[in-house]
Amino acid sequence: MLKTTGATFLAIATSFFILLFSPPPKSYYHSLFISSSLSDNASISHHLRTLTRRPHVAGSQANAEAASYVLSTLSACNIKAHIVSYDVLLTYPDSRSLTLTPSPSEPPITFDLKQEIYEGDPYADVADEVLPTNHAYAKSGSVIGPVVYVNYGRVEDYGTLKEMGVNVTGTVVLARYGEIYRGDIVMNAFEAGAIGALVYTDRKDYGGGGGDAKWFPDDKWMPPSGVQVGTVYNGSGDPTTPGWASSEGCERVSIEEVESSGDVPLIPSMPISDADGETILRSIGGQIAKDNWQGSIDAPTYRVGPGPGVVNLEYNGKQVIATIQNVMGVIEGVEEPDRFVILGNHRDAWTFGAVDPNSGTAALLEVAQRLQKLQRSGWKPRRTIILCNWDAEEYGLTGSTEWVEENRDLLASRAVAYLNVDCAVSGAGFHASGTPQLDDLLKQAAQQVQDPDNSSQTIYEQWIQSTESSLIGRLGGAGSDYAAFLQHIGVPAADMRFGAGYPVYHSMYDDYTWMEKFGDPMFHRNVAGT
Ligand SMILES: [Zn+2]
Repeated sequence: MLKTTGATFLAIATSFFILLFSPPPKSYYHSLFISSSLSDNASISHHLRTLTRRPHVAGSQANAEAASYVLSTLSACNIKAHIVSYDVLLTYPDSRSLTLTPSPSEPPITFDLKQEIYEGDPYADVADEVLPTNHAYAKSGSVIGPVVYVNYGRVEDYGTLKEMGVNVTGTVVLARYGEIYRGDIVMNAFEAGAIGALVYTDRKDYGGGGGDAKWFPDDKWMPPSGVQVGTVYNGSGDPTTPGWASSEGCERVSIEEVESSGDVPLIPSMPISDADGETILRSIGGQIAKDNWQGSIDAPTYRVGPGPGVVNLEYNGKQVIATIQNVMGVIEGVEEPDRFVILGNHRDAWTFGAVDPNSGTAALLEVAQRLQKLQRSGWKPRRTIILCNWDAEEYGLTGSTEWVEENRDLLASRAVAYLNVDCAVSGAGFHASGTPQLDDLLKQAAQQVQDPDNSSQTIYEQWIQSTESSLIGRLGGAGSDYAAFLQHIGVPAADMRFGAGYPVYHSMYDDYTWMEKFGDPMFHRNVAGT
């Protein structure tokens, strides 16, 4: 996966550089930038391996060390680099427990809530540094209630339950990931009257469909103990500084005001594994769920409840004002230095982050190294290029949002375009979304880069063959760091990746081994993405 995304990023960056280049002929530097003589699979894989050696969630020492690595790599490329810090509200799990009483006559089961290491796991030595599974900004508290199975937790799923005569009020819902944002799963549960929410990854969707399917490290699928963690925040940026930057000494709203904003959930929630989800499903009686609510071939029959299984969900989070670090690199333009072309990717990861986000970080560093080589051969950019490595994206696009809030007026008048890469590579197949101003640029870039999975065609040819609907998606949601640029100040933006969703997303199995075995074995996609 790494391989394709890297190439695409490169191609798109190259097209931006067409805009940036000053004569002698733009086309010369343009093709030099993407030429195979500059490509280096080994250096991309080295960046990725270094960045993902340890789990590095926002606010951790490991993530500060990753920031130093990015800073020193940019500096070594003769790029003026510096760190921009903000103090922002993050949450970490303090204590958690989950107990199921399957029926009044049975003893309670206490789940261990741990993702398992496997035999020969090269990251076993740092597995304890992985943050215990949790939802960032989840409500702290302890709730006890009968369980209702709510499928994907969409508004229409609650409509179906209502038609079936199932009352959700006072229950703890069990929802599966896959169709909507996890913050909306918890919000919908709250609005339906539930007192708590558990969200699991059904193996039908993430585990290869059950049956004979194998899982990581034997195949790409999520292991039974794997858990997709993530934020349930519905805003963007530091929740205590809505609309302004979290700079030193700034004013902040109180936690009570944050809770009344509607952007953080008001009931406790927890992400759980497929194995734990299935154990709970076996304790749910009542009517049989509809066919499209069922699991994989060998799963038990799913029923909707409520109960008789009763869960006790207890979660306590720490709220911490933590320091986050964006790493910024600047190459000044010679003709229009006050016009900015901005490339960005985040660095913080829920776990090791080999796909999300450090495949993108590796591509960003590869871009920096190629630009250094171009500079050595006489190239100077027409406009100023800013390379951004964001922090705390996973909590709520926080690093990029705070920076945009701090520099809003400057960026609104000077930013030409923002190019984002988050999960640069998770498999084969190029995907891009953007605002319409950049459509032609994206197409032209894709026409210049060879498809990393088929040397007889370009990425563009692969792209048009594989896309059923519109070629270029639009950036409606707040899926990554383009949001503040596009939605706060209206800067044209694009977002690219190789591969679509990947099953070990936000679990502790998103590591270098997964990337090397399943995402991008040759690191060609990564190079192409660059
Ligand atoms: Zn990400």
